[in-house]
Amino acid sequence: MTKGLLAVFTGNGKGKTTSALGLAFRALGHGHKVCVIQFIKGNWISGEQIMAKSLSPLLDFHVMGKGFTWQSDNLAEDTALAQNAWNFAVQVIEQNQHHLVILDELTYLIRYNMISEQEIVQALSRRPAEMHIVVTGRHASNELLELADLVTEMVEIKHPYASGIAAQKGFDF
Ligand code: ATP
Ligand code: MG
Repeated sequence: MTKGLLAVFTGNGKGKTTSALGLAFRALGHGHKVCVIQFIKGNWISGEQIMAKSLSPLLDFHVMGKGFTWQSDNLAEDTALAQNAWNFAVQVIEQNQHHLVILDELTYLIRYNMISEQEIVQALSRRPAEMHIVVTGRHASNELLELADLVTEMVEIKHPYASGIAAQKGFDF
C-alpha cells in the first residue's frame, strides 16, 4: 500500500514547477493517474500545457486562474477565479481518481488572501490515504510546511534574469 505524501516545493529559485512536472512524468510511466492544476495562468502558453494534450490519457491538465495578482486590474475577478479553481481542486481530491495531484502555484492563493490557509490545510490533510499531493509556489505558509511530509526549498544561487536574460520559450515556459 502507498503512503500518500504531501510535498511542497517552495523558495525563490527556479525549479519548483518543473520539479513537480518531473514527478508527473515519473508517475505516468508507472501507469498512475495524474492531475495537474495550475492556479496561475501566465502570459504565455507553456510547453507543458501544450504537451499535456497528447502526452497520456492518464494525465488531466487544467490551467485555471489568471495572471499574477500584483499585475491585476481586477482583484475581485481574480479572487473569484481562484475560488473556482480551488473548489475544483477540492473535488479532484475528494473524488480520489488520481494517484498524484499537483497544485501548481497554490501558495499564492494563501499569500494573497484569496483562500484561507485553514481551508487549504484542512482539505490537504483530508486527502485520500494513498494520494500524493504536490504543492508549488513561493512563500509557502507555515501551517502548510508543518503539514507536509516533504519540503524542498529552491534557493536561487544564480538566475539568468539577473544578467538581463528574459524568460525563454522551452526553458522558462
Ligand atoms: P519553473 O517553472 O521553471 O520550474 P518555478 O516554478 O520555480 O520555475 P516560479 O516562481 O513559478 O518558478 O516562476 C515562474 C517563472 O519565473 C518561470 O518562467 C521561471 O523561469 C521564472 N523564475 C523562476 N525563478 C526565478 C528567479 N529567481 N528570478 C527570475 N525569474 C525566475
Ligand atoms: Mg512555478
